[in-house]
Amino acid sequence: MRFVRRRSRVGFDLLGYQKYTKDATLGQVYHALACLREDPSDFVRLVPHHKISGSVYLHVTHPLVGFGEEDRYLLEFHFEKDSPEDFRHFRVATSDLRFVVGVITKYFERARLPSLRGWRDVTAILREEIENADLIDAHTFSTNHRSQLAQDTVCGCFNCGKIFSPGEIQRWIEDPGDETAVCPYCGINAVIGESCGYPITPEFLARMRRYWFF
Ligand SMILES: [Zn+2]
Repeated sequence: MRFVRRRSRVGFDLLGYQKYTKDATLGQVYHALACLREDPSDFVRLVPHHKISGSVYLHVTHPLVGFGEEDRYLLEFHFEKDSPEDFRHFRVATSDLRFVVGVITKYFERARLPSLRGWRDVTAILREEIENADLIDAHTFSTNHRSQLAQDTVCGCFNCGKIFSPGEIQRWIEDPGDETAVCPYCGINAVIGESCGYPITPEFLARMRRYWFF
């Protein structure tokens, strides 16, 4: 007879969307895994108290799938060397729940990694996402922002690069909740105001343009 050990040798903290369990049990991990199917924005992140073969966490999600797509889990191992910047990241997609449970159990109970054959090295993709996180966040301030822009003295367009006063904006697009500015210089809705928290400078607008329009 096989018993599920209550706690791991290494010790794990369990993270989820707005959830945190210190020194989790395997039962709590399985429970969190079972809940993943109900919420596509949720995740299960197992963080060992000590690195396991260089890995600092195992991350599991069950993202929403489009029509005709296969229902699947994404598993990701994150490795760090000497600093958080010096990382590698591996990902695999599977529809086999037994495989997911197997990887988790081995990591949790035996502090072992599975063979990463068949896992994709997505380090470069993740690095780019991290480097551009500000551009992705700033973009969320480019719509539904009329009341926000009313408080700004400066705004800029990341299509044409012009920096101007929000008072110059003539055209607005109706959007749910609020209205979206149309740039008075190029006619594109790519305006962000200083209250987005990012610098309205030629350099930042140029980075935005490269990321969003090329
Ligand atoms: Zn413009």
